[in-house]
Amino acid sequence: EDKILQVNNLKKYFQMGKGQVLKAVEDVSFYVKKGETFGLVGESGCGKSTIGRTIMGLYDKTAGDVTFAGKNVHALDEKEKFSFYRSMQMIFQDPYASLNPRSTVREVIAEPMEVHRLFSNKQEQVARVYELLEEVGLNRDHANRYPHEFSGGQRQRIGIARALALNPDFIIADEPISALDVSVQAQVVNLLKDLQMDKGLTFLFIAHDLSMVKQISDRIAVMYLGNMVELTASEALYDTPLHPYTQALLSAIPIPDPDIEESRERIILEGELPSPINPPSGCVFRTRCPMAMEICSIKKPAWQEVEQSHYVACHLYDDTVEDKTPLKRLSTV
Ligand code: SF4
Ligand code: MG
Repeated sequence: EDKILQVNNLKKYFQMGKGQVLKAVEDVSFYVKKGETFGLVGESGCGKSTIGRTIMGLYDKTAGDVTFAGKNVHALDEKEKFSFYRSMQMIFQDPYASLNPRSTVREVIAEPMEVHRLFSNKQEQVARVYELLEEVGLNRDHANRYPHEFSGGQRQRIGIARALALNPDFIIADEPISALDVSVQAQVVNLLKDLQMDKGLTFLFIAHDLSMVKQISDRIAVMYLGNMVELTASEALYDTPLHPYTQALLSAIPIPDPDIEESRERIILEGELPSPINPPSGCVFRTRCPMAMEICSIKKPAWQEVEQSHYVACHLYDDTVEDKTPLKRLSTV
């Protein structure tokens, strides 16, 4: 299979002053296959957007490497960068914030084409804008209006049209539906799926919960406090979640999944999300984990493939750990 993106042992730290270091991304490795949707899920502050931005080359990396279409994205020369940004585009959570309010929809969508001098002929460019509007379920009558005249869902469609303007291969969608109503979320997800089919797009789909991600993702990775804690095919993650954090996230999905017959027992996580400036020793999840054992504060769990293509970082699945007595009882409601 064709791995269009490879992320190897990526670390991204931010210097916070007073000698403090924010460990936003801690040693994360994964790949994305051409044509798939790879879901990246976790609470805000878990490092998922930082991964997206580091892959995009918007942030330099602290360690590790990101390879896109065979090239190290942090070692591109100016010319290579230019073509890289044609191949990889981003969609943002708040389409309103990412669209210039003083530009018409036509200007917003045409801007990347102008930067990349895609058309020398203005009429061809306008024709392309109309075509893009239709591809995202809008129409040419919308072209001369301003972003504030549109609903959230329509604005996200405009953001998608803009991202498609350069015919990219790969789109990083950073919480593209989180700010939208549930009914509109499904429409945008369906649009993204249709566009993927038509254009053979590859998506990195970033989300803060698991509710919609299953509909669109082939594989899903779950992140917690800068660490990847579980990664597997979408169905396997929903059917047999292994990591206690994934289990808690799944139990919190408000709308019951019609594919799952009995609703899951809700797992309430105790405690606050620790600061990535001062993460817990050993397993970063241990301060909130209902299954935490003695070893969890001492040793960081290894990232291991416990079933075929099912990766998890948790001592519960480590055969060399002898004492798996939980420190406290599982709290549920
Ligand atoms: Fe919980 Fe320990 Fe597994 Fe971490 S390693 S998720 S604390 S059981
Ligand atoms: Mg974010």
